[in-house]
Amino acid sequence: MEEFNLQIYGCKKCRLWLGAKHAVPGEGPLNAKVMLIGQNPGADEDELGRPFVGRAGKYLTKTLTEYGIKREDVYITNIVKHVSPQNRKPLDDEVRACLPYLITQINFIKPKLIVLLGASAKETPRIEGIEYVQIIHPSAAMRFTKMREKFRQQIAEMAEQIATIDA
Ligand code: URA
Repeated sequence: MEEFNLQIYGCKKCRLWLGAKHAVPGEGPLNAKVMLIGQNPGADEDELGRPFVGRAGKYLTKTLTEYGIKREDVYITNIVKHVSPQNRKPLDDEVRACLPYLITQINFIKPKLIVLLGASAKETPRIEGIEYVQIIHPSAAMRFTKMREKFRQQIAEMAEQIATIDA
């Protein structure tokens, strides 16, 4: 995987590398049962080269912990591996250029459950034998009270689903 990540670090398949400090391949155990997939890194993630380490990431990590899910046990990545200008949504051609990396990561890790964070992760290819759930993106949950309640409920359900995988 480290060797594979070198391809992501050096990727120039779309324009996004031009404005990025670091590519963010993802992190977590290579035998993780659960994979979380977000949209693309923000400024904090670009700075540190790690996924979900900014405000939304801290909120995600805190909520996972509250429901007994350790961040270190899940593999966390994004559909697009570079930050985008002004944090805009990645364009279709950028998603398309980046998708092969995600497919390789999924095939390598072979998670039992893939959790798509927000609508932008919905382009994730569906692979047989893997369960998929789409939940609210933590940055939306942070901003809107109603979404926060729903997000917590979704994380609670995710924890129950993980317990059945581990059983
Ligand atoms: N939002 C995302 O979708 N991914 C990150 O890594 C950080 C914020």
